[in-house]
Amino acid sequence: MKRCSIVCSFTLALLTSVSAWPFWRRDVLDNAVDSPDGVIAHLQHFGEMLYRNPDNETGAVVANWHENWDRNPEELGNYAEGDILFPPQLEKNGLKAEAARWAGGVVPYMISPYFNTEQKNLIYEAMNDYHKYTCVKFKPYTGEENDYIRITAGNSGCWSSVGRVGGRQDVNLQVPGCLTKKGTVIHELMHAIGFLHEQSRFERDEYVTIQWYNILNNHVGNFEKASKETTDAFGVGYDYGSVMHYSANAFSKNGRPTIMPKVSNNKPKSSRSITF
Ligand SMILES: [Zn+2]
Repeated sequence: MKRCSIVCSFTLALLTSVSAWPFWRRDVLDNAVDSPDGVIAHLQHFGEMLYRNPDNETGAVVANWHENWDRNPEELGNYAEGDILFPPQLEKNGLKAEAARWAGGVVPYMISPYFNTEQKNLIYEAMNDYHKYTCVKFKPYTGEENDYIRITAGNSGCWSSVGRVGGRQDVNLQVPGCLTKKGTVIHELMHAIGFLHEQSRFERDEYVTIQWYNILNNHVGNFEKASKETTDAFGVGYDYGSVMHYSANAFSKNGRPTIMPKVSNNKPKSSRSITF
């Protein structure tokens, strides 16, 4: 797959539908992973933490999550940047060898039977937004495709790998926390198609100040920046309202903000509050 084929048309599709997609949402798709190496380069500092099993400890925290929290459920995991997780059986160098994009922009999926109708409908609504505003398509897995996502409801929080891993890969959405708002579903699916967090953009320091002294001691690594050489925003600007942006108090140890906007009147928004 050529470098630009999916994401450029993705972005173009988005820009041409700007009237339907609120302006501040237009670059929800930036911070794209430019290559499989890009994913690894940015996340490599997590080391072993990237390749592990989902844990119930995260599940217990997400089970207590409620809408009044100043953090998103996807920011609560014991995973890389809160919600990024690769299968432990994946060879460390395997991902580099894999093309991280989905052929033709089509992502086959299956949904766990453990979701109820209402929860499934929220997942479908999130997918419909992709269909409406982008060229990425989700289509039911038929058993024929080699690569597909399985949307699971495990008691381990909200998480996904970044990009196509190869074979079956899980996107976990614990109920009810990860299925309270459509934005959380869109966020995890964005990881699955290959996007990183907005505040890890290489030029983020021009837009936000990371308040390092407010970050939980063992979570400082969640605020690393991606490399300019390995990621590409495809010409779209930093978006404080991106569904991929952490909330202002993500990984705070004292209730004070960990991310402060440098541009007045902008504040990292909670993906939970996103409306389309
Ligand atoms: Zn995330």
